[in-house]
Amino acid sequence: MSRSARLQGIAASIGVAVGHARVIRREHRPHPHRRIEEAAISAELSRFAEAVASSRAEIEAAKEELLHKHGPTYTPILDVYLLMHGDALLIDAISNTIREESVNAEWAVSEVAARLKKPLLEDASPYFQERASDIDHVKEHLLRHLSGEQRQASPVDGPTIVIARDLTPADAVHVLAPPTVGLVTELGADSSHTTILARTFGVPAVVGLGPLPIEIEDGDVVLVDGFSGEVTLGASLDERRAAERRRDRFRAFLDAERSPNAVTRDGVSVSVAANIELPSEVEAALENAAEGVGLYRTEFMCLDQTEPPSEEEQVQLYRGVVRAMAPKPVVFRTFDWRGDKRLRVEHLGGCEQAWLETQIRAVLRAGVEGPVALMFPMIATVTEFREARALVQRCRDALVDESARLAPLPVGMMVEVPSAALLADRFAQHADFFSVGTNDLSHHALGADRHDGRSAAGPLDPAVLALLERAISAASDAGIPCSMCGGMAADPVSLVLALGLGYRQVSVPVSVVPLARAVIRDVDLGAAADAAREALDCVSADAVRELLLERLGPALGSLWKDHGLV
Ligand code: PEP
Ligand code: MG
Repeated sequence: MSRSARLQGIAASIGVAVGHARVIRREHRPHPHRRIEEAAISAELSRFAEAVASSRAEIEAAKEELLHKHGPTYTPILDVYLLMHGDALLIDAISNTIREESVNAEWAVSEVAARLKKPLLEDASPYFQERASDIDHVKEHLLRHLSGEQRQASPVDGPTIVIARDLTPADAVHVLAPPTVGLVTELGADSSHTTILARTFGVPAVVGLGPLPIEIEDGDVVLVDGFSGEVTLGASLDERRAAERRRDRFRAFLDAERSPNAVTRDGVSVSVAANIELPSEVEAALENAAEGVGLYRTEFMCLDQTEPPSEEEQVQLYRGVVRAMAPKPVVFRTFDWRGDKRLRVEHLGGCEQAWLETQIRAVLRAGVEGPVALMFPMIATVTEFREARALVQRCRDALVDESARLAPLPVGMMVEVPSAALLADRFAQHADFFSVGTNDLSHHALGADRHDGRSAAGPLDPAVLALLERAISAASDAGIPCSMCGGMAADPVSLVLALGLGYRQVSVPVSVVPLARAVIRDVDLGAAADAAREALDCVSADAVRELLLERLGPALGSLWKDHGLV
C-alpha cells in the first residue's frame, strides 16, 4: 500500500496495536444453482450432513480452546452457533430444500440463509442485525466445509493485525491469538460477539469501518487505536514509533493496575460497576472488583431464540447472577431490542407485553437472593414511565410467593432520549433512580444513526453535555441516584468530564472497570468541575476535547500521557 490513509471506525476494544496486515478476504465464490439428479440426492444430503458435522466439530474445538484459555465466561457465545447447527429452521430447511428442489447443497445453504435473514434485516435494531450476522457466520462455516477449504496459515511474520470484512466468533477464537495483536473489520458493532471476544482476549480492535481500500495487502503496516477508533494505513516511521510508545505504556499500565480503590485525589469515592451482557460475565466482574452490575443487558440472553426464555429459565439465570454478586447490587434492564427501542407499554403487541410481564416477574423472584433493581430503556415520556411502574406493581401484586412480593425492587429508567433529560426534574418525581445511556442519548440528540460507524456523534458535543448536566442536577435535587452506563464513562478522557459534571456512579464494560478506577484515582474533582463548566460553553466536541486535554492534561499526566491513553 503506497498511499497513507486514516480511517475512522468504532473503537471496540481498548489499547493500541502496531503490526503487519493479514488480510482475510472472504472469497466471494459463486454458488450457482445446480440441478441434482434424483439418484444423486441422497449423496448430496450426505455431503451436506458431513459438512454440518465437520463445521460443528470446528466450533466445538474453538469452544474447547476458549474454555481452556479463558474459562467458561464466554463459551455461551459459541453454544449459540452449536445450537444453530441443529436448528430445524436452518439445517432441516437446507436438507429439505436439497431434497424437494433437487439442488446442490451450496445453493440450498445460501437460499435458506437469505430467507431467514430477510425479516431480520428489515428491522434496524442491533439485536436483529446481530441475529442476521449469526446466520451469515454459520452459512460461512457451512460453505467452507462444503468446499473442503482449509484455514490458511498466516502468510505474515511477527505481530499481525487481522483485517477482515467480518470474522465469525469461532474464527475469532482461532485467529485472535498471538501473533495477532489487533483486529480491524469492515462490519461489526460494539456489541457483536466477535467484538466481545476481542475485548476478552485483550486485542485492540476497531470495527464497523465500512469498505476498506482495495489496495491493502498482506504485510502492510497498520496502526490500530482502540481508544479513538482510528486505523492508520501506510503510517510514517514517526507515527509508527509514537504508536509503539503508546502501546508499551498502556500495556505496562494494565500490568501494574491492581488497586480496587476508586477515590479521587481530593478524597471523593466514586462507584464503578460493570455492564454485563451474559450471565457468565459475572465472574470477570467480580475478579475486577466491580461494585455491582450497573447495567445487565438482558436481551443478550435471547441470542439464538425467537422468543425469550420462559419465566422459570429466566428466574434460574437471574438468581445465579444475583447470588454471585450479592451483596453487591444488580441492575436489570428490561429487554431492549425493538427497532425503534421505545417502550410504550400501552402500544406493546400482546406478545411483547406478555414477555415484559414474564421478565418483570422473574426479576422480582430473583430479588429474594440479593439486592436488585429494574430499569426501563428508551423512556421518552413521564406517562410511559408511570405506566411501566404500574405494570411492575401489577406483576408484584400477582406474585404467589410472599417473600418475592415483599422483596424491595427500586424501579428506575434509562435517560437516553433527549426528552427524558430535558424533563429530568419531572421524571425524577417518579423514578427511583436514573441511569444515563450516553450511546443513545448522543445519537438522538444529534440526529445521528447509531448504526453508522462513521457518525461523529459523541457525548463530548456541548449539546449532549447540557443534557447530561440537566439529568445529574435533577437527580441530585430530587435525591435519587444517577449513574452513567453509556460509553462516555468507559473512555478515559470523557469519564473525567462526566465526573466534572457531577456523576459519582458509573458502570462500564467489565474489562474497563480497572481502567476507569485508575482514571478516577488520578482526577482532581475541582479541576474536573472547572473544565466541565467551561466545556458547557464550547461550540463543538473537538473544542471540548482540546479543552480537556489542555486543562486536565498536566494534572492527569501520569495516566493519560505516561500510559499512552492520549
Ligand atoms: C446507551 O444507550 O448508552 C446504553 C448504555 O444502552 P445500549 O448501549 O445498550 O443501548
Ligand atoms: Mg441505549
